[in-house]
Amino acid sequence: MNERPPERTKLACLLASCSVIATGIILVGLIWNRSSLSVDAGLGELAADADNRGDREAKATDENEPTAKDPANSHPVPAGKAERKLLGGHVVLLADALKRRKIPAYAQELKDQVVLETSHGELIPIVPDWRGRAFYQDERLRNRQVELIGLLRPGLPYLQVLVVYTFDERGTRQYTDYWCEICAIPMYEIQRCDCCQGEIELRYQPKALPDYIVQPKAAPDSQ
Ligand SMILES: [Zn+2]
Repeated sequence: MNERPPERTKLACLLASCSVIATGIILVGLIWNRSSLSVDAGLGELAADADNRGDREAKATDENEPTAKDPANSHPVPAGKAERKLLGGHVVLLADALKRRKIPAYAQELKDQVVLETSHGELIPIVPDWRGRAFYQDERLRNRQVELIGLLRPGLPYLQVLVVYTFDERGTRQYTDYWCEICAIPMYEIQRCDCCQGEIELRYQPKALPDYIVQPKAAPDSQ
């Protein structure tokens, strides 16, 4: 018979309850202390984090990079260097190029998109930036033979144009930009002159390719 006498059992129960309660109180005290400590530490860390993030985002915005808030930022960006290339062909409206390939598409969405149709028949959309924008603005630059020096980046099927050459009727390569006759300054898109706010004109200058471009063996197709 292992049963204890009732008094002793009661006493043991009382002691056990007391010790449980005491342990509970001590534990609660400890946890409270620790959690308030960690809350303080956590708040400190969060504040520091927010400061860092603020700095990073300000910096990212300054550098025109995607910010941490940008959901696109969570996608991996393909590694690899942008290559400076010489591409020959014609700049055309994408809608026209697709039509010629019998690819149905709604014109409204494609409206102003221009592409370089290379001499190999490849279509490369042009980024409408400080240099590529002229092809969107100026139809005199489209549907004619061109050579473009531009950047092609891994994973980005767009051309960032850096230098534009067109060809005259005799096939002479012409460095092509815009020019203010009064102020004698070049510009790269249709706009009022940066200086006198006057009209600017399209300018052609016979020029050879720069040394950093290795001239391709095949001559650009003539029109
Ligand atoms: Zn001017």
